[in-house]
Amino acid sequence: MALIDAAANSIRIPLWRLFGGASNYITTDITIPIVSPSEAVELAAKYCRQGFSTLKLKVGKDLNSDIEVLRAIRSVHPDCSFVLDANEGYKAHQAIEVLDKLHAMGVTPTLFEQPVHRDDCEGLHLVSHVAKDKYGVSVAADESCRSVNDANKIIRENLAHVINIKLAKLGVIGAFEVINIAREAGIALMIGGMVETRLAMGFAGHLAAGLGCFSFIDLDTPLLLAEDPVIQGYEASGSVYKFDNSIGQGGFLQWDNV
Ligand SMILES: [Mg+2]
Repeated sequence: MALIDAAANSIRIPLWRLFGGASNYITTDITIPIVSPSEAVELAAKYCRQGFSTLKLKVGKDLNSDIEVLRAIRSVHPDCSFVLDANEGYKAHQAIEVLDKLHAMGVTPTLFEQPVHRDDCEGLHLVSHVAKDKYGVSVAADESCRSVNDANKIIRENLAHVINIKLAKLGVIGAFEVINIAREAGIALMIGGMVETRLAMGFAGHLAAGLGCFSFIDLDTPLLLAEDPVIQGYEASGSVYKFDNSIGQGGFLQWDNV
């Protein structure tokens, strides 16, 4: 990241332009962690007021309480879109049961991320197949895609509809390789991250804006940190991050906060 930032600095252009300049902004979802229904309601109401239209819900710990939380969120944010992220937490039949129950409630998530264990290829294939054919829901591979080899396998064996790119997981060069093979194969792309400050997440945001090829954007962790040692890099307003013409990544360490 630092080398690519240095390259952008040396030719005095912002990173998002170096990556292709498709756009100078992105719109992210925001995550609701595994909490009680009342805590989820509070968070959903706050994010609704702040203009977030896509909520990413961490699920996979307990099927019934996941459904309860979702029902509660809908009561305060009825128009929001849902991304579900099970972080490998379900067995295939449980993941399908969640979709069945949501369907009965009239809820269709826009994406179901990593429903089953990373090595459960058979389960991932089954959930993907049922989710798409029965409910029109796309399934994303996150933990199941940690390398170019994983991406090739996912594409070859039709295991998922979307691949979640994380720079901390694949590295920048690895990410570009996976992006290229996914685009060639017609697989949709998501961009996410680990718990990252504005520095790494800003870099990923520049990349997403500049390439313009991501159908799902999940770059919210700087919004969830109590303190961020990095300033600038982009301007966040609700769910939208806007990148200006500052050169490179554009962010700086705030030394008082380090
Ligand atoms: Mg994930």
